[in-house]
Amino acid sequence: MKKYQVAVLAGDGIGPEIMTEALKVLRAVEKKFGMEFDFQERPVGWAGIDAAGKALPEDTLKTCTEVDAILFGAVGLPGRDATIPKEQRPERAALLALRKHFELFANLRPVRLYPGLAHSCPLKDSRIGSGIDILVMRELTGGLYFGQPKKTEEYVEVEEDGTKGKRTLLRATDTMVIDTEEIERIAHVGFKAARLRHKKLASIDKANVLENGILWREVVTEVAKMYPDVQLTHVFVDNAAMQLILNPSQFDVLLCENMFGDILSDEAAALAGSLGLLPSASLGETSGQSGFTFGLYEPAGGSAPDIAGKNIANPLAQILSAAMMLRYSFKEEAAAKAIDSAVEKVISAGWRTGDICCEEDSRDKVIGTSQMGDAVVAALE
Ligand code: NAD
Repeated sequence: MKKYQVAVLAGDGIGPEIMTEALKVLRAVEKKFGMEFDFQERPVGWAGIDAAGKALPEDTLKTCTEVDAILFGAVGLPGRDATIPKEQRPERAALLALRKHFELFANLRPVRLYPGLAHSCPLKDSRIGSGIDILVMRELTGGLYFGQPKKTEEYVEVEEDGTKGKRTLLRATDTMVIDTEEIERIAHVGFKAARLRHKKLASIDKANVLENGILWREVVTEVAKMYPDVQLTHVFVDNAAMQLILNPSQFDVLLCENMFGDILSDEAAALAGSLGLLPSASLGETSGQSGFTFGLYEPAGGSAPDIAGKNIANPLAQILSAAMMLRYSFKEEAAAKAIDSAVEKVISAGWRTGDICCEEDSRDKVIGTSQMGDAVVAALE
C-alpha cells in the first residue's frame, strides 16, 4: 500500500475547522483508493506562538523537512498581529518563511466557476461563455518582487538653473530580474500542468516594453518544443487582464512572472465568486529520491476571524487543496479527480455554505462547515 507523510498545519481562525473537513475527505480517499496518509499535525501561526513562542516553531519546521508535502490552513489574527513586530507576524514568519525555506517557486491557483454558481460571478452570462476553468501559474521567488537593488533613498531637488533646491525628496527603486533557469523551471511546471488539463498554455509577458519580457518569451518558446502536444500562445499582460473579463473561457493555463501572476490571479479569483472555493499549491523541485514534488497546499483565503468557530466557513478550498496535493505531489490523479468531482456533485445538488448561497434561489440548501465535509465524503463514496 502506498504511504504518504503529510505535515498538517491548520493554523488560526477558521484554519482548524476547514482542515478537519479536508482530513475527513482524505481518510475517505484512503479507503476508496487503497493508500495511507500519516498526518503529522503541528502548530503554526498564533497557534505556534502560543505553543512554542514562534509562528514557525523549530519542531514544526523540522517535521516539514521530514514529510512528502505540507497541508496548510491559514495563519494570522489581525487583532493580535498588530501587537508584535512585522517580522514576527504569522504570515511573514511562518508562511513566507516556509515558501522561502523550501524554495517553493511555482504557485498554482486554479479558478473554476461551478455550474450552479453563476450568480456569484460578477460577469454577465454572455461573457461567461462555455465556462471558467483557469489555472494561474505564478513564478513565486523571482521577478520584480525580489530583484536587487530594492531601496528608497533621499535626493536633493535640482533647480532649473542647475543649483540645489531646498527640498529633499525620495526616490524608490525596485528591480525586475529574471534569468533563463528561473523561466525554464516554471515553464516546465506550466506545460506539465497543461498536459493534465486542456493542453493550452498562454504565456503572459510584456515583451513589447521589457527586456524581461523578451527573454521570458524566448525561453518559453524554447521549452515549448519539448511539449508539442500543448498549444502555446503569447499574450501581453495588459491584454490578458482585459481578456479575462471579456472572454475568460479562452484560457486554460496562464503562465506568469511573479507580479503579473499576483495581479492576474486575484482578478481571475474574483470570477469564481468566493475565496472559500479557491485552493492553491506552491511547488518546489521534484525530489530525486522519492520522485515527489514537494509542495505546500493551502486555501487562497486567510484565517477569516469574523466567521471562525461558528461552523459556517466554507471548507471546499481546503478540500480542493488536498486534491491538488494528491495530483501534484503524489501523482494520484484518479483520487484527485474523484475529490474534484465529489465537490462538483455537492454543488450541483444545491448544498451551500453561506458565502456561496444565492438568496433568490430556493433550491439552495445552506449547511455548515462539517456538514459540507460530510456531503463531499458521501459524494466520494
Ligand atoms: P480573509 O481571507 O481571512 O477574509 C476575507 C473575507 O473572506 C472575510 O469576510 C472572510 O469571512 C471571507 N472568507 C475567507 N475564507 C472563507 C471561507 N473559507 N469561507 C467563507 N468565507 C471566507 O482575509 P483578511 O480578513 O484580510 O485576513 C484575516 C487574517 O488572515 C489576517 O491576519 C491575515 O494576515 C491573514 N491571512 C492569512 C493568509 C494565509 O494564511 N495564507 C492569507 C490571507 C490573509
